[in-house]
Amino acid sequence: MITKQVKVGNVLIGGGAPISIQSMTNTDTRDSESTLKQVNELAEAGCQIVRLTVPDSDALKGFEIVKKHSPVPLVADIHFDYRMALGAIDAGADKIRINPGNIGSEDRVRAVLEKAKANNIPIRIGVNSGSLEKELLQKYGGVCAEALCESALNAVKYAEGFGFEDIVVSLKSSDVQMNNKAHILFRQQSDRPLHIGLTEAGIGRQAEIKSAAAIGSLLLNGIGDTMRVSLTGNPVNEVLLAKDLLAACGIRKLGIDFVSCPTCGRTEVDLPKIADEIQRRLQPISERLSKEGRFIRVAVMGCVVNGPGEGKAADFGVACGPQMGLIIRHGEIYKKVKENEISDQLISLIEKEI
Ligand code: SF4
Repeated sequence: MITKQVKVGNVLIGGGAPISIQSMTNTDTRDSESTLKQVNELAEAGCQIVRLTVPDSDALKGFEIVKKHSPVPLVADIHFDYRMALGAIDAGADKIRINPGNIGSEDRVRAVLEKAKANNIPIRIGVNSGSLEKELLQKYGGVCAEALCESALNAVKYAEGFGFEDIVVSLKSSDVQMNNKAHILFRQQSDRPLHIGLTEAGIGRQAEIKSAAAIGSLLLNGIGDTMRVSLTGNPVNEVLLAKDLLAACGIRKLGIDFVSCPTCGRTEVDLPKIADEIQRRLQPISERLSKEGRFIRVAVMGCVVNGPGEGKAADFGVACGPQMGLIIRHGEIYKKVKENEISDQLISLIEKEI
C-alpha cells in the first residue's frame, strides 16, 4: 500500500519515500551540550531523525538550544504535559510525538493539533502497549493487538476530525507476535504512514534478535515507512542495527553483503578463520562503499557443492577445495590459490577493482 506522505524537516516519510532511520537520545535534554553531542554521533552513524524527550520547561530550553545546531530533524517526545508540545513547536521542533493515552483531555490534544497544523509540523501518534486507554483494556480484557490497533485508529480519526492530516502512527508492544499483528491490523485499515519498531526490546543478543524478527517481518511484508530499533544502551547501536536490518531485508543495498557457508564435513580448509578474516578486513571497504551509495556481494564458500554457484552469483568470491581456493571474479574463475593465500588474494582483488 502506498501510504500518505509527511515531511519531517528535510526527510519524507511515507508515500513511497525510502524508509528512514530514527533513534532517540538518552542524555538529559536539559544538558544541551551532551545531548547535542549525542545527536551528532547519531547523525554520523546514519540516523536521519532524532527524538528528544521534553518532560519540563528546563528540558524545553535544552531542546531549543540543540535544535539550533542539530544536523538532522528533531522530534519532541511529549508525555503528560501538553504545554511542552506547544513550547517545542515554538522551539522549532520538526515533529511532535504524543501519546493520546496520557496527554490529557481532548481540549489539550486539540490545542497541540491546532498549533502543529498552524506551523506545518507533523504529529506522531504513538500508541504503546504499556499506556493503553482504560476503556480499551476493559473492552478487550487486557492488552492485545486489537486494542493497540483500535487505539491508534481512534487517535487518527480524532486528529482527522480537526482536519489534521500530517500524521505518522506508531503502535508498539514489547511482545513480538502482538507487535506484528497490531501493525498488520492497522495497515489493513489505514494508509497513514507507520513508524515501526519493537518497543523495549531489551539488551544484547536477545534484544537484537527480537528486533530483527519484529521489524524484519514487517519490512519484508512491505509495512513500515520509518523505523526505530529500541535497545537498552548507547542509541548509536540502534542506528547500526537498523542499517543492518534494512540491508538484510534487501531494502537498502549499501556496502558489502557478505555470504559464507556454515561449513560441513566436506570443508577441507579452515573456513571459519578465512571467512572471519575476510569479513573483518573488508569492513572499512564496506563502510566506504556504503557512504558512496555502492553495493557489492562477496561469497566465501567451503567446497564445490554450492561454492561455484554462490561465488558466481556474487561480485567476488572464493570456492574452496582441498587446501586451496578458486577465486571468482564477476562470475568467472579468476585464479586458483593456496589456502594460506585466499584472504590476501581475494581482498587485494576487491581493493584493486572497486
Ligand atoms: S558449501 Fe560445501 S562445505 Fe559449505 S556447507 Fe555447503 S557442502 Fe558444506
